[in-house]
Parts: sequence; C-alpha cells; structure tokens
Amino acid sequence: MDILNSINRKPAGIYIHIPFCKSRCTYCDFYTLTNESRIDSFAENLCKEIELRKDEIHEPVKTVYFGGGTPSRLSEQHFENIFNYLFSNFNIDPAAEITVEANPDDLSSEYIQMLSRLPVNRLSIGIQSFDDAELKFLSRRHTASQAINAVKRCQMHGFNNISIDLMYGLPGQTTGIWEQNLKQATSLDIQHLSAYHLIYEEKTRMYSMLKAGKIQPVDEEVSTAMFSMLIDWMKQHNFIHYEISAFAKEGYFSGHNTSYWKGNKYIGLGPAAHSFDGENRSWNVASLNRYIKGIEEGKPERNSEHLSLNERYNEFILTGLRTMWGIDLMELRLLFGDKLYSYCIENAEKYVSKKLLSVEGNNMKLTREGIFISDGIMSDLMSV
Ligand code: SF4
Repeated sequence: MDILNSINRKPAGIYIHIPFCKSRCTYCDFYTLTNESRIDSFAENLCKEIELRKDEIHEPVKTVYFGGGTPSRLSEQHFENIFNYLFSNFNIDPAAEITVEANPDDLSSEYIQMLSRLPVNRLSIGIQSFDDAELKFLSRRHTASQAINAVKRCQMHGFNNISIDLMYGLPGQTTGIWEQNLKQATSLDIQHLSAYHLIYEEKTRMYSMLKAGKIQPVDEEVSTAMFSMLIDWMKQHNFIHYEISAFAKEGYFSGHNTSYWKGNKYIGLGPAAHSFDGENRSWNVASLNRYIKGIEEGKPERNSEHLSLNERYNEFILTGLRTMWGIDLMELRLLFGDKLYSYCIENAEKYVSKKLLSVEGNNMKLTREGIFISDGIMSDLMSV
C-alpha cells in the first residue's frame, strides 16, 4: 500500500458531548450546564442527531468517546438508547474502543455494574488530585478517598482499561504534594494517566481569582520541576510517555486521542461538539436550546470552516509533534508540497542542532529536552 492510500484509509471516530455537570469546577470553561432538567430531551435529540448524520461516516468506526461535561450523569436508559442508535446507524467495529468519562462521585457499585452491561470497555475518571485541600480548591465534588475507592470498585467490576486525569501547577502546590499525587496514582494499577498543567481560562472563577490577586500562579521553575518529575515517575513505573500530557502502559494508548493527533476523521455529536473530515472543521452550536431546536427542525445548527493548505500543515505539525511518533517528513512533503516541506526543514535546523528535535530517516520528533519548550518549537515550525 503506498503512503497516500494509507493516509486516505485512516480510521474514523465518534465523539459525544454530554453537556451536564452536577456543579461547575473553578477552572472549567467547557460547555456544560448544571441544570439537568432537560437531560431526557437532550438524550432523545442526540439519538435523532445520530440518525441525521449517519451518512457522514462510512468507514468502520474504531473509537467512540463519551466526553463532557459529565457523561456519568446519563442513566442506563439514556445509554441504551444512544448505543442502539449508534450501532444501527454507523459501522461500529466490533473491537472499537468505547470510552466513558466519569466522575468519582457518580461511580457507585450500581452505576459501575450498569456501565459494565453496556459495550463500554474503557473508563476515563476525572480525579484531578488525591489531595483533599486541592480538590476543594478546584470545587471538585469528591474527596481523595472517594476517588481511590471508585477506581478500585471499577476494577472489582471488571474494568481493566482505566485512565485517570490529574492536574498540576495549581496555586500553592508544592513538588512534594505533586509527588504524593503521582505515588497514589501509580499505586492504583491504572493503565493510563493524562496529566494537565492548570490553565487559567478566561470566564472561569479561577481566572477571576487570579485577576483579583487572590491566588498566585505557580513559579515557572516549579512547573518545570513538576513536569520533569511526572515524566521520570511515570517512566519508572513502566508507563510510556506517548503524548505531551499522556502516559500509558504498553497496549493501552488512547485510541481516540491518538486518532485526533494523527489527523483522522471524526464526528462530534451533541452541543458544542467538533467534527473534522480531513479538510473541514465544523462545530455544533454551544447552546442546548438551539441544539434541540435545530434537531427538532431537522437542521442541526452547525458552523464550519474549510482549512487551507497552510492551516492543515499547521495542524499536522501541532498534533504530530505532540506525540512520541513525531511527524513523517515524507508524508508532510506528499500532503503539503515542497515549499512547506522546505520551510519545515529550514526552521527545524536550529532545534535539531541543539538536540531539541531529533531526525532519524523520515521521522522528526521532540527530544526529552525539546518537550519542555514544545510550544515555542511548534509555533516556530508553523507557517503564517
Ligand atoms: S466535572 Fe468536568 S466538565 Fe464538569 S465542570 Fe468540572 S471540569 Fe468541567
């Protein structure tokens, strides 16, 4: 199979946005509602959206990802209906990775047993911290012991592909607290960890606190030390650092996220969900009312943009270099032409000579040192 054929035959994925949360965390800017009164109507219209958009993907669907929001606010009936529609309208691969994001406080034994009766084979649990003071500061709804018990209960009920999310770089967080978080995480026999540095997103409570001088961002040296500790700790515990924020045991990479990073096609269902068909990006309206109205009228409200060659090249650089696989320079040349290929090589040269990027054959990727200044390197390789 030549390289262009293999590029065109990339697998497809489905993302489903569940826009409900019991309460809002201080740092969160995702589209989500704390009033769950319309959750039934949302679930019904989501099924209708699946039917309306069934012709957008013909290739086998390799990954389905329920994100949010908090998908663990859905009931068994909601999930059953959604799965019925998914399986009857799309060609879902029998071995597809099917992930549900869940919050620890929703993961009672009954709820986990219910999830285990569904085609769900991967859980992504939003823990964020194992320190009660940090959890309170983030306005999370669970305690550290609830989180630990939730992971253990999921394992007891047969889930053996579990990812957890942690956050670092919180105001006042020390490397000692971060180390305790990492120790606790790896003691839980999980398969995957996503660790994100806190970002102060505008329109969040955390951002207002920062602007009002009520909290101080962590020093850059402390942030760097935490990231370094994260990489070393996870490596010592046999996790592969396969993307800037993601670590997995062998065989447990997130198929869904890997698919994003490799530029594969996906459709996003539910309010505010994004879709990508290889050349165009589109996004559903970020309003539950307008989402439901559009579906009821048979015309889902969506916006879209066509990505220019330059924009697609930039995405290729941005997503590829985030991963341990880096970018294939031959693929870059075939997809974007000689001009952008030469632009990339010329701009990469200084980083290669400083050993921040490595090139072996056609493969170019960040070195361990390069990962620490990845944003600067990627923006230098991007074309304006
Ligand atoms: S649970 Fe997740 S989606 Fe909901 S408010 Fe908190 S961070 Fe945001």
